Amino acid sequence: MKFEAIPKETIMTVPQKGREPQRVESEIRVDPLTRRTSRICHFMPPAWKKPDLDALVAKAGDWCPFCGDNAHQVTPCFPADLISEGRMRKGNMMIFPNLAPYDSVSAVALFGTHLHFIPMTDFTPSLIAETFAFCCEFFQRITAANHPEAVYHLINWNHMPPSGSSVIHPHLQVFSTSTAPLLMRQELDAAKVYFAQHGSVYWDDLVAAEQADGRRYLGKIGRSHWMTAFAPLGTAGDVMAVVENVRATLELTPADLADIAAGLACAMAAYDKMGLYSFNMGFFTSTADDETFRFHLLFSPRVYFNAVLGTPDTGALRNLYNESISIAFPEKISAMLKPDFNARK
Ligand SMILES: [Zn+2]
Repeated sequence: MKFEAIPKETIMTVPQKGREPQRVESEIRVDPLTRRTSRICHFMPPAWKKPDLDALVAKAGDWCPFCGDNAHQVTPCFPADLISEGRMRKGNMMIFPNLAPYDSVSAVALFGTHLHFIPMTDFTPSLIAETFAFCCEFFQRITAANHPEAVYHLINWNHMPPSGSSVIHPHLQVFSTSTAPLLMRQELDAAKVYFAQHGSVYWDDLVAAEQADGRRYLGKIGRSHWMTAFAPLGTAGDVMAVVENVRATLELTPADLADIAAGLACAMAAYDKMGLYSFNMGFFTSTADDETFRFHLLFSPRVYFNAVLGTPDTGALRNLYNESISIAFPEKISAMLKPDFNARK
């Protein structure tokens, strides 16, 4: 496993620091699998200032399409030959088509029609696990219907506006697709090349290397291994979980989902302490017959660079060059996350 980093140094004089030239280090890291690059520029503040979340929720207005009776009246329904009851329901959870679909089978899952706002630290592992399991029931029905899109089953989660969510009410984006999203497709392809070259699965080797190194490794929960990503996509780093022996979403057992939920809750608790309240989460999956892949997920906090102006944490580098920037070293972020992962042991 090669963890490649290109060190860089900027020299400048800073009026506030006298005449001596200042040296500022940064680093460009290369993802060991895909060779995409990530720039580590360490200007992360010790803590972000969390906004008044109640005021933010109030600003979004009183009417919500996902709340109570509204969810039963205004959300779209699946065609009867796919989901005969129109909308899938279980307790207060609900799954219905996304009005603005990203693919043929593109749905929204609600943790509960009665749960209009959940701060990041209030997502309990049981709530997350139950909702993920309900999404897997949806995937099983798409698969049972022999739908041509029942290839890759993905759960995406955008929580709160900095992450790209336009709705306060917590929800998941749920897809079944035959067209893997770009980075996942690059990983699927690169994993086959890695397997051919090394005779082993990339993520098995990655977990072994990260466990041995320890600087980014956060711990093992059941079959899931948690670590910060060497070359993160997110501004405040990425937390990655790899599930042993699992290749595809529908191979996850109820115990795996509970373990994933427990790890996500640890990550949320830890990032909350840094003043963060918003994140993206995404599943990376192959198909059950792919011996070169391991199911993994990424949890990646999102921030506004300037909350007053609404400045997002993506600029031209990320949007036009697809070059990611992280404002702290993943090893430092891992050290900040470790107490919450250790606390559950
Ligand atoms: Zn609502």
